[in-house]
Amino acid sequence: MRFSIKLFLIVVSCLTVAQAQQPSGLEPINFSKVTIRDRFWKPRIDQVTSTTIPVCIEQTEIKTPRVRNFEKVPRNAGEKHEGIFYDDSDVFKALEAIAYSLRNKPDPMLEKKADDWIDKIAAAQLPDGYLNTYYTLTDLNKRWMDMSMHEDYNGGHLIEAAVAYYEATGKRKLLDVAIKFANHFDSIFGPGKRHWVTGHEELELALVKLFRITKDRRYLELSNWLLEERGHRYAVGYTWTDWKDTAYAQDVIPVRNQREITGHAVRAMYLYTGAADVASYTGDQGYVDAMKAVWEDVVYRNMYITGGIGSSGSNEVFSVDYDLPNENAYCETCASVGMVFWNQRMNQLTGDTRYIDILERSLYNAANDGLSLDGKLFFYGNPLASDGRHKRREWFGTACCPSNIARLVSSLGNYIYASNSKTVFVNLFVASSTSIDLTSGKLSLELDSNYPWEGKVLVKVNPEKKKLRFPLAIRIPGWVLGHPVPGNSYTYLNYSGSQYALKVNGQPVAYNLENGYAVIEREWKKGDVLEADFPMEVRRVVAKPEIKEDVNRVALERGPLVYCVEHPDNDGKVMNLVLPDQIQLQTQFEASLLGGVQTISADVPVVVPTADGNGVVTEVRKMKAIPYYSWANRGQGEMQVWIPRKISGVRLSAR
Ligand SMILES: [Zn+2]
Repeated sequence: MRFSIKLFLIVVSCLTVAQAQQPSGLEPINFSKVTIRDRFWKPRIDQVTSTTIPVCIEQTEIKTPRVRNFEKVPRNAGEKHEGIFYDDSDVFKALEAIAYSLRNKPDPMLEKKADDWIDKIAAAQLPDGYLNTYYTLTDLNKRWMDMSMHEDYNGGHLIEAAVAYYEATGKRKLLDVAIKFANHFDSIFGPGKRHWVTGHEELELALVKLFRITKDRRYLELSNWLLEERGHRYAVGYTWTDWKDTAYAQDVIPVRNQREITGHAVRAMYLYTGAADVASYTGDQGYVDAMKAVWEDVVYRNMYITGGIGSSGSNEVFSVDYDLPNENAYCETCASVGMVFWNQRMNQLTGDTRYIDILERSLYNAANDGLSLDGKLFFYGNPLASDGRHKRREWFGTACCPSNIARLVSSLGNYIYASNSKTVFVNLFVASSTSIDLTSGKLSLELDSNYPWEGKVLVKVNPEKKKLRFPLAIRIPGWVLGHPVPGNSYTYLNYSGSQYALKVNGQPVAYNLENGYAVIEREWKKGDVLEADFPMEVRRVVAKPEIKEDVNRVALERGPLVYCVEHPDNDGKVMNLVLPDQIQLQTQFEASLLGGVQTISADVPVVVPTADGNGVVTEVRKMKAIPYYSWANRGQGEMQVWIPRKISGVRLSAR
C-alpha cells in the first residue's frame, strides 16, 4: 500500500475544536505552578539543567548524528540516514527536558538552541505531515508498513516535546508540527481506515496530552482507538508487516482483558499510562479494572524492592513471577521512569495512595539511580548487586534512558500535589510552594521538609480570603504504617509500623483516613500550619520465599530510601558481609559523603578465608550502608542490596 506525499492536510491550528470532558479523578498540579526549593531535589533539578541537558545536547547534536539526520532531509541531496531508526525520539525527549528546564529557569541561550532544533525538525516534516528521518532518508515507500519500526513511537515523543515546549515558552511552532503529524496519522489510521498496533507504545499517552492542550477530542478518540486495536492479532494477520512477537508488545489479548504483565517493560509502562489517561477522561471501567489487576501483578510478584521492574536483560522484558535476580537485574531506567508516570495516573484514577507509595519508591530509588551524582553519567540497567563489572556510561547506542531521566527530574513538580477541585492532596514531601484553585476559593501552600533524611513535614496554608473551608489530604506513606509495598512480596522484619503525629498549629488534630490519606477538613486560616511527623527508623526488609535470590537475606530501608552496601565504605568487599537480625544498627547524616547522605552502620561478622586458604573464619568489621541511588559514583567494585542474615548465606565473589 502506497501513499502519495501530495496528500496535504490542512493543519488545524485553532486550539478549541471541542470541549474536553472533565477527568473522573484528581488532577496533578502542573509543575509550572510549583516552585521547588527542596534540599534533596532542587540541587538535582539544577544539575540536570546545568550538566545533564548539556550532555544530552552534545551527544545528540555533536557526538552522534541524531540532529544531523533532520538537517539532511531538506537538503534532499541523497545523504544517508545514520544511526538507528528510533534515534529521532532522543532529540524530541531532550527537547522535552529542555522545555521543563526553561520553565524552571529561563535561559535565552538554551531556548535559542531549542528553537534552532525546532526549525530543523519543522524543515524535515513532509508536506503531508509525516516526520521520520529514517524512512524519509531511506525509502519513503516503506513508511507505515512495519509496526515494529517506531514511527508512531517517535511521533509520540514529538507530541510530548511539543506540548511541553508550548507550555514552557508559549511558542507553537513545534506544536503545529506535532498537530500536523497527528492529523497525518489520523488521516491514515482509525475506524473505517487502516488498522494499526503501535509497536512501541507511546503515541497513546502523547495523544491524550495533545487532546488536553488542544481540547480536540479527535486525539483522545484516536488514543482510545489505538488501545482498542491491541489484542486482535491484526499485526500477525497483515502481510505487510514483519511484526511477529505480539506478547513482547502486549498485543496478545485486548487491553481491557489484560490481567497480567507481559513483555517489554517500558512498552508496558507507556501503554498502561496511556490506558489510565484515556480511562480518566472516558471513565471506561474496563480499562480501570484491567489497570488495577495488571498493577497488582507487577507490584505483588514482579517488582524489585527498589521499585525497578523488567528483570530480564535478554530482551528488556518481564519474565516469570518472582524471577528477580539481583546481579543480573535489568531494571531499565526508562521502566522506572514509566513506573512514575503510570502510578501517578493510577492515583488520578482511583485517589488511592498505594500508587504514590510505589511512585515514591521508584522515583527515589530505581529511577534516581539512573543518573550519576555529578549528572554526567547514566545507568541503562540498575542492578541490585555487583561484583564490580557495572559502571555508569557517558551515553548508549540506544540512548533512551539519559533524556528520560532528565525530563523526569526537571518536571518533578508534577508529582507533589493534586486536587479534584474540592480537596487538596499532598502526595510527595518535596519542599516547595504552589497555588491551587478550588471551587470554594483560591489558596497557596508552602511545604517545608528535610525529606528523605527527616520525617517532619510542615504544610503552611494561605487561603486568598481570610479563611477557607476545604479538606486537606496528606499521604500517610505505607512505610510508616509498616508496609514497604502493597501485597506481601516484601515485609518488614519485626516492625509493624510507627505512631505518627498530625498537628495543626502545634495542636493534635482530628482526621479521617481515606484511601491512605489523612484528610483534615476545617476552616483554614492564613498561616495555619499542618505538621506531620513520620518516624525515620531504620527498618529491615525480607522478601517472600518465592523470590529465591533474596532467601535468608535482608535489605535496609530508612524512610522512602532503599540502602545498599558498597565497596569503598567496606574495605573493598561487601559480598562477605553478614547482617544477623539481632545486630544493632546506627544511623547518622554524613554531609561530606556522596553529596550528603544518611548512612546506616553496624559491627557485623564478615567471612574471610583462613591463612592456608582451606577454610573460612569470621571476624567483626564495621559495615556501612549508603542509599542505593548513590552507589557507583566512586569507581567500580562490589555492591549489594540484599545482605545475608546468616553466615551460611554468604556467597563469596570470585574476585
Ligand atoms: Zn531506556
